[in-house]
Formats: sequence, structure tokens, C-alpha cells
Amino acid sequence: MIQRIGFLLAPCEKGISPHGYTNIPPLSLGILSGYLKNEGYDVELYDLNSALAKIYRNDEQFAFLYDKDTVLKCLKGEENDKVNLFAEELLQGVSIKDYDVIGISCGADFSFFQLHSAFLLANYIEQKYKIPVILGGNNITYLGIFKDTFNELLKTILEVFPYIIKGPGEVVIAELIQVLNGKMQKSIYELDGMVYLKDGQVYMNPEHEPVVVCPDWCNLPMENYYSKIKNPSYNGKWNEKVEEENLLQVFKWPFFLTQYVSTVRKKRPRPEYMDKLILPYIFNFHCPFACAFCSESDEDRKRVIIGEAHKVVDDIEGLIEKYKTSYFYFFNNAANASGKFIDEFCNHIIDRRIDIKWSDCARFNNLTFERLKLMRDAGCQKLVFGFETASQKLIDLVEKKIDLSHGERVLKWCKELGIIADLEVITGLPQEKDEDFQETVQYVTKNKPYINYMTINEFFVVPNSKIGRYPERYNIELIRNVISYSKILERSWKYFKEMKGKQTGNFKVYKYNEIGGRNYKEVADKTKSYIKALNNLQNKEFAEVEYVYRILEQKS
Ligand code: SF4
Repeated sequence: MIQRIGFLLAPCEKGISPHGYTNIPPLSLGILSGYLKNEGYDVELYDLNSALAKIYRNDEQFAFLYDKDTVLKCLKGEENDKVNLFAEELLQGVSIKDYDVIGISCGADFSFFQLHSAFLLANYIEQKYKIPVILGGNNITYLGIFKDTFNELLKTILEVFPYIIKGPGEVVIAELIQVLNGKMQKSIYELDGMVYLKDGQVYMNPEHEPVVVCPDWCNLPMENYYSKIKNPSYNGKWNEKVEEENLLQVFKWPFFLTQYVSTVRKKRPRPEYMDKLILPYIFNFHCPFACAFCSESDEDRKRVIIGEAHKVVDDIEGLIEKYKTSYFYFFNNAANASGKFIDEFCNHIIDRRIDIKWSDCARFNNLTFERLKLMRDAGCQKLVFGFETASQKLIDLVEKKIDLSHGERVLKWCKELGIIADLEVITGLPQEKDEDFQETVQYVTKNKPYINYMTINEFFVVPNSKIGRYPERYNIELIRNVISYSKILERSWKYFKEMKGKQTGNFKVYKYNEIGGRNYKEVADKTKSYIKALNNLQNKEFAEVEYVYRILEQKS
């Protein structure tokens, strides 16, 4: 009978990044544990990135993780001392035999260090302990959507592991355990999200819908995720200025900088520093806007799932109490996906006098001065707006459904109210001409006083998005085999040695040619120059802070 579940987060390059691993606890593990504990199971969590940092000796030690043949042969049963040592060392702090089943999250950044680690660890656990392993995580979804490129890997893992889940895992794992415990009369192949082989073909059931769950990090050592901020009460008296500085560090600065500064401060501790936990939380899933470039335009993700405001606020209150923090990063596609929800949520926060500071993504649509004020009064510090481009032609093409002049009003209101406003920008979209890009440059330049930071994204084709499914509507043809699995690993290994922890760009599996227009190489060259131009428009303040902390780090 399965009752005790151990969940492991497979390690990734970031675990040994000199910029620091992460400053927030893993939401995926928290959600799994929150849901399954509610269902009556005993759950414990392990983030193997902490173990990775302890076992790291040199880069070559992990070279096998980027070698396709070694990984596939090992999964097919070949003994490999390096792989066994890697697994033994990583699992030192986990008493595997205490669990009836092990769940391994393969992560979400499409890192092959993480995916291969997950598969090799699963293999090791099954061989050595004869305990069933369930594999999941967004990286499984990515393998699935790029299945032409990763067919060999997919088939190999499906021959070895019977329980692989694509999409949200919490409900499916509970059902799978019920089936295995003989309490649900169903074939595992009928369960949502199951990935399996039949007659040599890879099958993937439609994903289960996500549910809004209060995360529970149960036994996970939270000190691994502390940020170092300044203690506003260091001199025995509350200093509002210091707290304002902290809010800038946690919310104004881009994530990478908040985390990096914290990492340097940990290396150079000072008595006025204190530890602070920032918690992640999600209260809505999927997105009603279905922009053509986004994975949320997938047919399977049509239904928007939004929590009940009073229950979400109960969760937040519970988390504040349990983890002694008032800082939250919400990871919704848009905090205001539902105007009704965000109003109710903010009113509950205000009525219950909950002291919370939070940031989230947002859409310009449905934001009024009054609604933004309500959000500010409920603790909103920063909103990251999906803006993408100021070319009306491209907005219409990718069905972004934003009103640019309303966007300008929203940015100004945010400034007036003291809400930090970031923008998400995309360049490299099909049919993006110089004049389209110039419209973006002009918009950003005009609104620069109101824009804090831009996340600059290079467009890539997501196969399950509208553009991926109907390329002809966007006047492009897809090129699916520009890069092979082996080449991706080669590139990832190079990235690993040069800049551990930075994005590997593995999502860029497909390219496109414009029909009667640019070929994919011309698109790539142009996009590179656009990214450079956008970077020149960034607020210089963050580069300056980073520079100061680089010097401090060198002195430590
Ligand atoms: S880009 Fe943003 S607004 Fe558009 S579908 Fe995706 S999540 Fe929704």
C-alpha cells in the first residue's frame, strides 16, 4: 500500500551557479505536497540542488550529463561508475527506503542537466531500491511538444519508466496511487497526462487541469532560500528608509539582481543584514487572451482556472503565519485575468488588514486608476505587463488584444500610485520589419520615465501555440530539424562551462522562414540587432548595482 511519498527536485545547472541558485522555494514541490498531504498521504520533499552544490568538484565531473550515448546506454541497463557515484552522492541525505514511492520533478527550464539527472536518478532508485518512481514536471511537457527532436530519448525513458506524467501532477499522482493501491478501478493509461508507449508509438493523454493549491514546503529547509536584506530594526528602532530600500531590492530590481545581491551578501555577511523569505504562489492558471505566440493558446488550455478570492486570502494568511514573511512573488499569467477576482482578493486583504507586499504579471486590459489603487492598497509593489510590441500590425497578427494608448495611461497611473511597472517585450516575431521595431523603440522611449525594467524575449516557435499549429496563418513555414538532440547537448555543455545557470536557449528548437520574405538566418541576425537596441534602452541603474556587487564579490 502506498502511503509515504518522497518528492525530489532533480538538480540543474543553477544549483552550482556563481550567481546563486534561487531565492524562492520550489513552487512545484510545495503544490504537490500541499495537495497530497490534504489527500491524507505522508509527504517529504528534497531539493537536490542543495546536495549538488556540496558534491561539486569540477565541471568535468558532470560531462556525462551532456553525452547522449552515456545517458541512453545507462538507461538501457549499462553500468556506469560515474553515474552511480553521482546518484549515490546526491541521494546521501535522502532515506529512499523510507518511502513507498518516489516522485521526481524534472524541472521547468528545459535543462538537459536536469532532465538527464532526473532519469538517471530514477533508474538508480528503481534498480537499487526496487521502489516505483513517478516522473513529471514541465520539462516532460517540453519533451512532448518537441517530440520529433527528442523521440529517441522519449522512447528510451518510456521503455524504462511506467509512470511519466505530462502537465500538472498533483491530482494525477493522487489518482495513480489510488489505482496502484487498488482503490480506483481504472487503467493507468486512462489517467490524464499519462505518457506511454503503445506499439512503438509515443502517446500522451491530455493534461489534467491545474488546481489552486496552498503550497506546503513541509520538511524542506527554508534557510536555503533566504534573501539577505537589511534589518529595518537594526538600531533597535524601526527605520522606514531601510524598509523602502528592501522593497526596492526585492521588487524593483529584476529577479536575477535581487538574487545575485543576496548571494554576494551571504558571502560577505554584515551584522545589519537579516534573512527574508519570499514566497511564490499562483491563484490562476491558463489565460483568456490566447496570444498566438504563447503556449497558453494551446487548445487544451482553453478553460481559465481562477481560485476563490476568500480561500486564496486564507492561504496567504496561513503562509504569512507559518513562514513568518509578508513578501510574495505571485506567478500568475495575469493578476487581473479576472477583474472580479482581483477586486475581491484586494478587498479581502484590505478588510482583514493583512500586511503583504507582492508582485505579479498583469495585462493592461481592465485596469483603471481605481483598480490599480485598490491593488496598491492591498500591497501590490510591482506589475510586469505583457506588452510585447508597439506595432499595431504585429499586435493584430499575434492577437495580443492590447490597446497601446490605454497601456500608456496604465503606466502613468502606476507611477502616480507608486506601483513599479515592468514590460515584457518580444522581438523576432514573424513579419517584424524595421518600421515595426521602430514603433516599439519610440513607445518605450516616450514612456521611459514610467518603465522600470524590460524583460527582452527573443521569439521562438512554441509547437502547441497557434503560430506553431497554424504557421501558414502567419505567412511562415516551420523548419523543425535545424538542431538535433546531440547538438543541443553540445551547446548546453559549452554554456555550462562558460556560464552556469544562464538560460541555455534550448526552447529554440524550431525556426521559421517567412514565405516570400526573410529566411531563418536573416530573422536571427535582425533579431540580434533588435535585442541589442532594446538593451540600450534599459534603465542603467541595475547594471550599476550589479557592477558594485561584482566588485564586492571579487573582494570576498
Ligand atoms: S502572452 Fe500573456 S496574455 Fe497572452 S496568452 Fe500568454 S499569458 Fe496570456
